[in-house]
Amino acid sequence: MQQPGNLFVIAAPSGAGKSSLVKALLEVDAQLKLSISHTTRAPRGQEVHGREYYFVSDAEFDRMIAEGAFIEWAQVHGRRYGTSRQAIEARVAAGEDIVLEIDYQGALQIRRQFPAAVLIFILPPSWDELRARLQRRGEDSPDVIELRLRNAAQEMAHVDAFDFVIINEVFERALFDLKTITHSQRLRVAAQRRSRADVFAALGLTPNP
Ligand code: 5GP
Repeated sequence: MQQPGNLFVIAAPSGAGKSSLVKALLEVDAQLKLSISHTTRAPRGQEVHGREYYFVSDAEFDRMIAEGAFIEWAQVHGRRYGTSRQAIEARVAAGEDIVLEIDYQGALQIRRQFPAAVLIFILPPSWDELRARLQRRGEDSPDVIELRLRNAAQEMAHVDAFDFVIINEVFERALFDLKTITHSQRLRVAAQRRSRADVFAALGLTPNP
């Protein structure tokens, strides 16, 4: 599929700081839009339907799978999560830059359908730091933290399938790295031809046939 906009797919083990980094990136980059996933898990805390997720029943999720409504979906921590086709295809074709905050299984499905998607993996600086962050978050019991660490090992084993790795040791540095990746995609020749068509035309740089 033709892809005038960029698809940035960001995966990380739980506790690596993915959500905070993506939130900070969206605040400083008005061109980027976050894709809102569907999930069968229940809302947590202050989460709002249509803001963090579309919270749907198992039956509704089944119906969407049957209709081919998902561009990717996966089971994560026993719940299902998916990205709706509608949310992505039209927007990328219209030249929007979209961020998908999804797990590695979803990232690999996106890669198959959009070879030009940019896959970014966020790593913690060490196991000790990952454990400390999960403990500081105070959301999970010791058992759940151990489960998240085991899941993290499984998730991180897929890092080589990604294009870029950011090590989230110092937040500001990791945010800079993320901004560098998104910015560099917009400097690609094809992207510059679209966004700075006036300059190319003035210079007489018509595309090669
Ligand atoms: P949480 O329930 O903590 O919000 O998310 C759990 C995991 O599901 C995270 O790794 C998150 O990135 C992933 N996830 C969220 N939305 C999607 C989605 O649409 N597709 C896939 N494959 N994973 C998702």
